[in-house]
Amino acid sequence: MVYRLTLCMSSLLLLVSGAVAQEYPTRQISLAVPFAAGGPTDTLARNLALVMSQQLKQQVVIENVAGAGGTIASNRIAKAKPDGYSLLIHHIGMATAPALYRKLSFNPLTDYEYIGQVADVPMTVIAKLGLPPDNLTELIAYVKKNKDKLNLGNAGLGAASHLCGLLFMSRIEADIVTIPYNGTAPAMTALMGGQIDLMCDQTTNTTAQIKSGRVKVYGTTTQQRIPSLSMVPTLAEQGMKGFEVSVWHGVYAPKGTPKPVIDKLVAALQASVQDATFKSRIGELGAQAVSKDKATQESLAIHLKAEIAKWEPIIKKAGVYAD
Ligand code: ASP
Repeated sequence: MVYRLTLCMSSLLLLVSGAVAQEYPTRQISLAVPFAAGGPTDTLARNLALVMSQQLKQQVVIENVAGAGGTIASNRIAKAKPDGYSLLIHHIGMATAPALYRKLSFNPLTDYEYIGQVADVPMTVIAKLGLPPDNLTELIAYVKKNKDKLNLGNAGLGAASHLCGLLFMSRIEADIVTIPYNGTAPAMTALMGGQIDLMCDQTTNTTAQIKSGRVKVYGTTTQQRIPSLSMVPTLAEQGMKGFEVSVWHGVYAPKGTPKPVIDKLVAALQASVQDATFKSRIGELGAQAVSKDKATQESLAIHLKAEIAKWEPIIKKAGVYAD
């Protein structure tokens, strides 16, 4: 008797949660951005939120949860209620965090439902206006000569700007001091104010500043020139062969989010990455929306796993980590 009652209760609960999932979304959805407002991740997220809101017929609002290279936001969403109202957008940093942070309180491979990939964004090496070198060759010589006096801004351990900076320093064999910010938007303000010298950052944050001449640019991390920044040479064409960095992004929900909710989010993401306005808005900033087949749970799962495996030995070898 007791057993039957329990069975009935759990079937009822399942039915109710199924019905709730069917109606989803009935209120606004929060999309956590792991870096400061105004930066590259935030810019991509706000453009995505606009189209996702249209698709889901509910507001998708941005919540900037900055700090610790994006791990604060990732942890918050890993522990959030799995009801589809708390989501996360994150980049390559989701894959580098396990190797970089010794006391990580979330697991990228087990704590989330994956929604899909969003866009790939190239980077640029930029500097404050007063820095003397006028091209990459001069920059390399200058950095080597002045490495004790220069610094490089970034968005914290594991941020794309951090990784790109590390790669750049290792290519030119000069280690300079790095200064972490809560995002590359505040780092950009510091760069334009002359408080930091150099930065490697996504085109979604640097295109406008490069075009208006508020920063110096030394090259892009792409194989070919970026159409919206066609006057900027690639690092590769200036001799830094193979220096290609593209920052991928994914959308995540807490583990246990009901399947019907995930299905709706995947459908909305797929429609968004194909949306002409979304594509052209981020395209003007050098970013490229992924194809529909990448805006899937499977694609993000496979990519994330491969990226974790790729970065782990590189980071271990570099000996960088946070306790
Ligand atoms: N995406 C940037 C980075 O990783 C940070 C930001 O969005 O502010 O450097």
